[in-house]
Amino acid sequence: MTAWRSTPFDPLDDDDKLREECGVFGVTGVSSAANFTALGLHALQHRGQEAGGIVVHDPEHGFNSVRRFGYVRDNFTTQDVMDTLPGPIGIGHVRYSTSGSKGATAIRDVQPFFGEFAMGGAAIAHNGNITNADALRRELIDHGSIFQSSSDSECIIHLMARSLQKSIPERMKDALRRVEGAFSIVAMTRHKLIGVRDPLGVRPLVLGQIDAAEGGGWVLASETCALDIIGAEFLREVEPGEMVVIEDDKLTSHRPFEPKRPRACIFEHVYFSRPDSILGGQSIYSTREAIGRELAKEAPVDADLVCPVPDSGTPAAIGYSLASGIPYAMGIIRNQYMGRTFIEPTESIRNMGVRLKLNVNRALVRGKRIILVDDSVVRGTTSRKIKEMILDAGAAEVHFRIASPPTAWPCFYGVDTPQREKLLAATMTEEEMRSHLGVDSLRFITLDGLYRAVGEAKGRDPDAPQYCDACFSGEYPVEPADQMEKGFQLKAAE
Ligand code: SF4
Repeated sequence: MTAWRSTPFDPLDDDDKLREECGVFGVTGVSSAANFTALGLHALQHRGQEAGGIVVHDPEHGFNSVRRFGYVRDNFTTQDVMDTLPGPIGIGHVRYSTSGSKGATAIRDVQPFFGEFAMGGAAIAHNGNITNADALRRELIDHGSIFQSSSDSECIIHLMARSLQKSIPERMKDALRRVEGAFSIVAMTRHKLIGVRDPLGVRPLVLGQIDAAEGGGWVLASETCALDIIGAEFLREVEPGEMVVIEDDKLTSHRPFEPKRPRACIFEHVYFSRPDSILGGQSIYSTREAIGRELAKEAPVDADLVCPVPDSGTPAAIGYSLASGIPYAMGIIRNQYMGRTFIEPTESIRNMGVRLKLNVNRALVRGKRIILVDDSVVRGTTSRKIKEMILDAGAAEVHFRIASPPTAWPCFYGVDTPQREKLLAATMTEEEMRSHLGVDSLRFITLDGLYRAVGEAKGRDPDAPQYCDACFSGEYPVEPADQMEKGFQLKAAE
């Protein structure tokens, strides 16, 4: 979902990481859907820290919602708020959103969105990005739609309103057949919980069930870690192109779209998903460790210590250490309590930058040849600062090993990426990047190596399952229509 935002100062949030934009959650058949949803969203907070919202329904009070800026723990824990959200069915959303500093976020952009239809109300929460949203929005406005937000996700509500179908799920199918791009959606009516994933299955969506002793409710969530927190059992992923509708404790599965070869986001395995989640039948932690092992094979170097850039580089650093036999150590310590405290930082606080969150373990790195393992290099600004800190602490050599291929293309499927010219790998060769970062060596895992690590032994064999890897390869599984209208050039065929 695309919308503007205002940005509290975060020293590691300087456009130097790709950011997942949203997490979604839904539950039905429980005594307090809001409590479960708040817990689920708390587990998904890494997918969006800017704002969150919950919508619930119960027969006595109808639909109710709370949508606020900030963390789930600050907004959905007090009795007075949770008392306003009664009911056995509910959905929720946490968001990050795109395009930092271009304006002020409005609360109207915070999901879930709600629409009142002839057959009753419906709320939706969307993770992903609609790549033809501009064209749809123009068309809808021409036909009389009045938009309440700047979000691409709102197009879905208006397309549903224009459908002539007699039920909400059928109207959703109609609407989503017009939509291009990536969508994992959790929606609800008075009695139905609905989950849909786009035909390519770009963004994840999982299905779970709560123990019968706890009420036996059904759960939909972006990741399995949101099932774990409420004690729900992971049943399966909602499949690419599938819509599940849950009502009266019964689940029906629908296939509203033309089948396509799935292209799930490979970056979920590298960075976005939590390491304790299961995706594509694999533990994210194990995959990241395998990436580190693969990286050690592809890019060995003689050194004294393997250190992660915490926290996201940690499993890959462990894998690199295990495969290379070079000891693993915490050469950089992260301050876990930093949060997004400095909403209006002074100049002196701004200048401290990365040091507010990361500190070098000086006694450990002094005089040592250090392999630093990080998940990605986007603009390279943080990598440069970390290298300076390590060298200031007396390290003899710094070798960067990166657990993803060079990020040379922007993502248009629900991930916040700088413009292409701001991506280091879009304008520099690997050697130029090494020199720019000022490190002794720099190596990225290859795309084939990444495919091997996520379990596709055949690498990028066209007969093997494929992923979306557009931010590395420039091969977009769905043409970004709106961006191309604005002049974005696709990679020329080789
Ligand atoms: S472009 Fe990159 S981040 Fe975006 S969906 Fe594809 S692999 Fe994931």
